[in-house]
Amino acid sequence: MRTTNDIFTQRRDRLRRILKKRSLPGLLVTKPQNVTYLTGFSGEDSFLLVWHQGELLISDSRFTLQIAEECPGVDVMIRPRGVGLVKAAAKAVRESKLRNVGFEAAQLTVAVRDALGQENENAEWVPTTNWVEELRIVKDVDEIGRIRKAAGQAMRAFAAVRAGLRRDHEEKQIADLLEHQMRLLGARCAAFPTIVAVGPRAALPHAIPGSSRVAEHPILLIDWGADEGWYKSDLTRVLVTGKIGPKFERLYALVLRAQEAGIAAIRPGATAAEVDAAARKVIEEGGFGRAFGHGLGHGVGLEIHEAPSLAGGCKTVLKPGMVVTVEPGVYVPGWGGIRIEDDVLVTRSGREVLTSVPKSLEDVYMNL
Ligand code: ZN
Ligand code: ZN
Repeated sequence: MRTTNDIFTQRRDRLRRILKKRSLPGLLVTKPQNVTYLTGFSGEDSFLLVWHQGELLISDSRFTLQIAEECPGVDVMIRPRGVGLVKAAAKAVRESKLRNVGFEAAQLTVAVRDALGQENENAEWVPTTNWVEELRIVKDVDEIGRIRKAAGQAMRAFAAVRAGLRRDHEEKQIADLLEHQMRLLGARCAAFPTIVAVGPRAALPHAIPGSSRVAEHPILLIDWGADEGWYKSDLTRVLVTGKIGPKFERLYALVLRAQEAGIAAIRPGATAAEVDAAARKVIEEGGFGRAFGHGLGHGVGLEIHEAPSLAGGCKTVLKPGMVVTVEPGVYVPGWGGIRIEDDVLVTRSGREVLTSVPKSLEDVYMNL
């Protein structure tokens, strides 16, 4: 991942400010996405130790060249063969003379936590949760640029696949075509395994694409996204590929109105729960509250699902720079499902919808 080094230095300095505020001299970062966020290094099996005066990326010789390329400004410990990552991390803590060290409790297994304690008995290992995620929740200009690009790749790929859609296409074929298109358009890969669901299969929010053909049922649900420089986009559209009863129009209009209400509720100062409620209210009033079983949306960035979660009970206050999906859905077992999903950036004056695939009722009808 290439970005000017300054951004990563700034991010590490912001983490140091958190460490100081919480009176912890150092933090062992073990979650791969957090290591990437703080260094630009995109490889695996590596930990980052950050303390007030310095940082050390603990890795192995497979990554020596990659580290030199991706994060030339970071101090590195390449562990010798035969020395495991945990042993090397404990050694790094010893050598930096840290007495208390935070570890990422949601990420580290109990076995690794115990091994760290055994390797370095003099240090006190302090559980922390979401300290780096707290920084990642608000995206900087570089991150927003990547998400925008990932959104563009996903949108253009969808347009291309939609234009070539055939009645004999199978779900998995469509997923493969979309993922291939996104790569052709510059994406690193798909942001997550693409969901393509025909008819009743669309009632499964996370359907696995199989061999159902487009012609088997008029509802086609596609949930896809691109990964551009490790940052993701995430969209869902429903297409109508044949004759369909009036129930569809009623439900589609309801979900679309709910999505628009959710998007309109996004602004700095609103809580995640308020945004969820704004959309949910529309679906509840339409009589389908029980058919909308999941949260309204989620943060998107280095991970496809990250903070903040737009859901009831989530008190996170929205701030400019957060990027969230807005994806209400209605699922009717045996009939199908409708979900409409876009990515939205919280701005100083309100919001900007980053994805713009047509979604009005007329737009979803296809003549195949
Ligand atoms: Zn999605
Ligand atoms: Zn999503």
